[in-house]
Amino acid sequence: MPEPKLILVPTPIGNLEDMTLRALRTLREADLVLAEDTRTTGQLLKHFEISKPLQSYHNYNEHQAVAGLVQRIRAGQTVALVSDAGTPGISDPGFLLVRACLREGLAVECLPGPTALVPALVKSGLPCDRFVFEGFLPHKKGRQTRLKALALEDRTVVLYESPYRVLRCLQELRAHLGGQRLASVSRELSKLYEETLTGPLDELIAHFTAKEAKGEIVIVVAGRPGKGEE
Ligand code: SAM
Repeated sequence: MPEPKLILVPTPIGNLEDMTLRALRTLREADLVLAEDTRTTGQLLKHFEISKPLQSYHNYNEHQAVAGLVQRIRAGQTVALVSDAGTPGISDPGFLLVRACLREGLAVECLPGPTALVPALVKSGLPCDRFVFEGFLPHKKGRQTRLKALALEDRTVVLYESPYRVLRCLQELRAHLGGQRLASVSRELSKLYEETLTGPLDELIAHFTAKEAKGEIVIVVAGRPGKGEE
């Protein structure tokens, strides 16, 4: 009997070929699959001919669901958690359940696999030896404070942003970091119209003013240059 546990299973961010063999085996062997959206995950499982009980686990029911799920795992079940795309817990539900399981002494695994931040960072051409992942900036309260803090950051910064707010976000970054700061915008990673543009914020703003940003987006911004590098 395998040890009961929680297993976080990354799923493709746009290209089904990125589903790993281990992710497929894990989903086949799990007693229960927790899904951010049961329809999205249902389609994924169907594509790979996997039939499993699915239970909804998303931002709105995370707090209430955790205790019951911990009990199920303690009772001997292996539970797999997937989000709509990428790695659960990365700007997606997962953290609360991981923490609760660890506090109860239950085993937790996270399979390596798709996530948008790593390919965006690595292909940006900006330093990736040290970086900070900011996820989505707050929309309103706290946004300016976070932007001010980013102005002092000397590591490369990775941000998730909706296509509707990309231009605004680049303009705000320019206001705090200056128009010459290098940055990169990756869209539709792993999909047909994948595209990455790297250049000074001024140039990216000119580009996305002329051509509306579409699809899913990751913004990568170079850290503050050191003395003598500016
Ligand atoms: N859990 C996911 C991960 O591991 O990357 C992130 C989920 S978050 C709700 C969705 C955001 O991730 C999108 O708004 C976008 O910023 C980024 N993203 C996801 N897929 C992407 C893709 N194919 N290309 C570019 N960005 C993507």
